[in-house]
Amino acid sequence: MIRPFLSLALAAALVAGCGGDDPERPQSTLPEASAPAAIPAVLSSKSAKQLFGAEQNGSAQAAEPFGSYSKGCAAGNVALPETGPTWQAMRLSRNRNWGHPEVVDYVQRLSRKAAAQPGWNGLYIGDISQPRGGPMLTGHASHQVGLDVDIWLRPADRLDLSASERENISSISMRRAKGAFTNDNWTRSHHEILKAAASDPRVARIFIFPGAKVQMCNDETGDRAWLRKIRPWYGHHYHFHVRLSCPPGATGCVDQNPPPPGDGCADAQAWVNNILNPPPPDPNAPKPKPKREITMADLPAQCVSVLSAR
Ligand SMILES: [Zn+2]
Repeated sequence: MIRPFLSLALAAALVAGCGGDDPERPQSTLPEASAPAAIPAVLSSKSAKQLFGAEQNGSAQAAEPFGSYSKGCAAGNVALPETGPTWQAMRLSRNRNWGHPEVVDYVQRLSRKAAAQPGWNGLYIGDISQPRGGPMLTGHASHQVGLDVDIWLRPADRLDLSASERENISSISMRRAKGAFTNDNWTRSHHEILKAAASDPRVARIFIFPGAKVQMCNDETGDRAWLRKIRPWYGHHYHFHVRLSCPPGATGCVDQNPPPPGDGCADAQAWVNNILNPPPPDPNAPKPKPKREITMADLPAQCVSVLSAR
């Protein structure tokens, strides 16, 4: 492996010699000359999702999200332990139980509150992010900066699930009429857990199907401020999705605009009304653009060092 570098060094020495530089210099610049030439070639030959999808461990760097939820990466992610007193991580084969330390702390705290609900002993945790975040080979567009987490709506009764049970057990759908309403699986405990989840000041948004938001809007008789962070969205009837804000001081992390003021209940009801009575399709609606694959050049420059840190 030394030979190519030696010849590069020789070439560099010749060039340097022509420029009249100190003849000692090529020797000391040897490692620098090789590094920048090698890394971009390796990175540019693969898509970002292949590169980040291959990583098995977090980077040994200070924890910091870089970029936005759907176009970024995460330095210093830590793993949520696969099993704790009040949680179990599901689908372990995906290796997506990695996140910013704030997310890991958030999940553990919320799981203790969930364990206080009747029928619940804690939470089943779905995807957080890959060890170094980034785009994924399968599944989500977001979850790239280690600040998103999917939490199952199936009550976590057993916390002794084996690895194979965690691959094979499914969550439970809470919706009826294409998401316009909750079904009989929805309980007051779900309301209380979502309320606790949204009341943590670190939370930016929580995504759940429209019928669940309206149900919670109708059932809440006390403080309604937390409802602002509950955002109706497609899917999300087997799990809810919590998105934390960028942690303080994380200057490379890009926040989403905050939700509009108010509890958002009228908007959720309007969405439900559209599900029940769909408006005729808009002939002038723009065609969805085909999504281009994310490359390393699309990601913040720090993601190169996140990927290469060993
Ligand atoms: Zn999600």
